[in-house]
Amino acid sequence: MCTSMLARLVLLMLSTAYAGTALAADTIEVAAGISLLPGQLQADQSPDGNSLVISGKEGAVVVDTGRGNAHTRELIDLVAGLDVPLVGVINSHWHLDHIGGNAQFRARWPGLHIYAHPSLDTALGGFHADYRKQLETYVPTLAAGSPERKRYQAELDLLELDRQLAETDPVRESMSLDLGGRILEVHVSAHSVTEGDLWVFDPSTRTVIAGDLVTLPVPLFDSACPEGWKRALGELSEVRFERLVPGHGAPMKPAAFATYRKAFDRLLECAAGAADSKTCIDGWFADAKPLVAKSDETYGRTLLAYYMDGFIKPDAAGRKRWCGKAG
Ligand SMILES: [Zn+2]
Repeated sequence: MCTSMLARLVLLMLSTAYAGTALAADTIEVAAGISLLPGQLQADQSPDGNSLVISGKEGAVVVDTGRGNAHTRELIDLVAGLDVPLVGVINSHWHLDHIGGNAQFRARWPGLHIYAHPSLDTALGGFHADYRKQLETYVPTLAAGSPERKRYQAELDLLELDRQLAETDPVRESMSLDLGGRILEVHVSAHSVTEGDLWVFDPSTRTVIAGDLVTLPVPLFDSACPEGWKRALGELSEVRFERLVPGHGAPMKPAAFATYRKAFDRLLECAAGAADSKTCIDGWFADAKPLVAKSDETYGRTLLAYYMDGFIKPDAAGRKRWCGKAG
């Protein structure tokens, strides 16, 4: 594997691996009938995004199914122990750490409805196919039986599930879903973190489930269009929510989200101006200081430096690939 490919692979792994400040792997009741199974964050493991279980009178809904076996199994056990049936899964977007458990859910609950934006189709032939090719070259170079080999082989195994990770019920535009006796507003934000991100608002508890539209210590731009993402954060800011659950990290109050959004906008403004990357990165960590654990800053700086050149600056190649009509 050439150096640039390896660098891309490592960065891809780093960037998808980051889950913000680690939370204890215990379920947290974030609002009435809404439980959070926090994603895990460990340097030597592939990560899982946050998963939520929303329970209604007649059924339960899961938002995002994790990536690794341990997280997904814990989530399945949690759902299987409820006194209402599982009536659906909603995926916020097609990143593996949010859809990786879909196949296991399908196996456990045949005929299960999986609601997601259909852009996984594009990713299967593009982003996921690229990653798979890189791993097919990279995995054989790793020592047999090593933790790294197991980790990346598990990634390959996930990618080989292909359409088993896909939606059954495509969500192309914002809608209300009556799931298990609970009305959820499912919103579509185009060309933001991916081509089509879903975020959920539960009016009964005024809870937003934001997917990776909100992540710390930095926004993760691997498949992102900066302007579309900025618009999506603007849409979120118009919702009168009481709490917002990010794709990675702990639930936030509205004031914390406002800090995040302002830091995001200022990062884009800085990148479009004459300042160098370091100045803009310093600006992010100054603006987002109340939200970022000091211990996460070094790693966040590495990620942001990569994203600045590849995705955020006006002439970045990532914009051509990911912004589409929204660019
Ligand atoms: Zn994620």
